[in-house]
Amino acid sequence: MNKFFLEIITPEKTFYRGEVESINIPALGGACTVMAGHQPMVFATEPGVIRITENGKTREAFMSEGFVEVRPDETIAFSQAVEWPEDINERRAEEAKERAEEQLRRNRSAAEYRLNRQALQRAFARLRVKHHNYMDQN
Ligand code: ATP
Repeated sequence: MNKFFLEIITPEKTFYRGEVESINIPALGGACTVMAGHQPMVFATEPGVIRITENGKTREAFMSEGFVEVRPDETIAFSQAVEWPEDINERRAEEAKERAEEQLRRNRSAAEYRLNRQALQRAFARLRVKHHNYMDQN
């Protein structure tokens, strides 16, 4: 399968740099799979599980809110946080999930509701990546 150059960048580091066959990313409105020759585009992502296929092997990682720029020769993803399963602190994600659920129960303003929904989505996605088949209760 044809390859293309993928770079995934966070404010802290370059998470990924290399030639890949595909990447599947949770975009707003549905998952998007980018392969070599994909038409150029820019899209926003939502917190979830990304799947990177390199040399026939697929690895999963957590990616937070961000943007993806698909160019003819390379794809660049920017996100606040991207983590491999082994780097995810499960306890911290559980605590973030409980905090967000508690805040959502308090029924605050629409803006706070959105922020807490996103925090909950990040926590669920981290737990899903950590356990691969963690039940999505969202
Ligand atoms: P928390 O409320 O626990 O900070 P969050 O979803 O608000 O969670 P982010 O804003 O996505 O956190 O990330 C802030 C920084 O903390 C990033 O560098 C991210 O990689 C790291 N981080 C957040 N949660 C975890 C986790 N469960 N395990 C490992 N790193 C994490």
